[in-house]
Amino acid sequence: MKKIVTIVGARPQFIKAAMVSRTLKAKGFDEVIVHTGQHFDKNMSEVFFEEMEIPYPDYNLEIQGLSHGAMTGRMMESIEDVLLKEKPDMVLVFGDTNSTLAGALTATKLNIPLAHVEAGLRSFNNQMPEEINRILTDRISSVLFCPTNVAVANLKKEGFDNFDCQIVKNGDVMQDAALFYAAKSDDRSTILKKLDLEEKPFVLATVHRQENTDNPERIRAIFDSLNEIHRDKAVVMPLHPRTRQIIKNLGIEPAFHVIDPVGYFDMLQLLKNCQLVFTDSGGLQKEAFFFAKHCVTLREETEWTELVEGGFNRLAGSDGNRILEAYRTMSAKQSDFSVNLYGDGEASKVIADFLATL
Ligand code: UDP
Repeated sequence: MKKIVTIVGARPQFIKAAMVSRTLKAKGFDEVIVHTGQHFDKNMSEVFFEEMEIPYPDYNLEIQGLSHGAMTGRMMESIEDVLLKEKPDMVLVFGDTNSTLAGALTATKLNIPLAHVEAGLRSFNNQMPEEINRILTDRISSVLFCPTNVAVANLKKEGFDNFDCQIVKNGDVMQDAALFYAAKSDDRSTILKKLDLEEKPFVLATVHRQENTDNPERIRAIFDSLNEIHRDKAVVMPLHPRTRQIIKNLGIEPAFHVIDPVGYFDMLQLLKNCQLVFTDSGGLQKEAFFFAKHCVTLREETEWTELVEGGFNRLAGSDGNRILEAYRTMSAKQSDFSVNLYGDGEASKVIADFLATL
C-alpha cells in the first residue's frame, strides 16, 4: 500500500483535496493528512471537513497569523518532523499558498517525490505571493498535475520538458467537487432563505486578494462600485476575515449584504442562483463558469485565461468605471457555457490512477 502525505492549510485547498482524498481512499492509498493551520476559523476550515466529508487531519500544525517568511519557515520545520516520522512514498500539495510551498520545499529536501495539483498556472505577476509559491513548487515537483491546456503550455514554455518531472493534464479537481456536491447542497443549504433571496435576483461578490486588500485606494474603489451596483441589484458578499478587518480599519461601510464566510454548500447555492459573480478569487472564477455564470474579475490579470478568451470572464481591475461597465456588459451577455475547459469531473481519478502507476 503506497503512503501519501497530503499537505493542506487554506480554504481552497480543502475544496481541492476533498475529491482527491475520496479517490485516493477508494484506490487503496494510505493517506496521511497534514493541516498546517494557515486557515483556522471554523467557517474557513472545519466546515469544509464536515460538509465535504474530508477525513480529519492526522496532524494539525496550528501555524497561523504570521508574516509570509515566518509562516513558511515554521511550517517547514513542523512538516519535516511529520515526514521523518511518516516516511511517505510521496507528498501531495495543492495550489499556491504558503502551505503549498512549505510542503514542497520540505519534501524535496528530504528527497521525497512531490506531486503538485494545479500546476502550471501563471499570472505573470511576481508581486503576487501566490505566483512565487506556484513557480517554485512547480520547479521542484516530480509530477505536475495540470488543470488546463494553458497550464501545460506554460510549463513547456518554461522548459519543463527538459526537467526530470512528469507533466499530466488531468483536468480541474474543483470541477469534480462542484459536480459531486452540487445536488447535496440543494438539501443542505438554507442560505437563500436566510438572506431572503429566494425570489430575488442578486450578484455574488468576494474580495480577499492581497493586491486589493492592502491598497486602500483599490479596496475603496471596489466597495464604492459594489455599493453602486447594489442600488440596481442586491449584492451578497461572504467576506474573508482579513478583508473584514481591513475595511473596518479604513472605515468602509458597505451598503450591501456582507456576511461571514460561508461553507461550501451555501457557496454552491449562491453560485447556482446568482446572476453574476464579482471576485478576485482564483477558484470562484472557475466556479462561476461551472454554474454557467459570467464573472467580473477584480484583478488586472488571471491564471484562467481561457475564461477571458471565451468571453465568460471580464477583467476589470479595481477601477470604478471599468467595474460598472463590466457589470452592464456581463449582465446583458448571453454565452454558451457548454464548452469543456476543465475536464469532465474525473480529474481526481486521473491523479489517483497516475500515482498508482509510480
Ligand atoms: N468559498 C467558500 N466560502 C466563502 C468563500 C469562498 O466556500 O465564503 C470557496 C469558493 O467557492 C472556492 C474557494 O472557497 O471553492 C476559493 O477559495 P478562495 O477564494 O479563498 O481562494 P482562491 O481560489 O483565490 O485561492
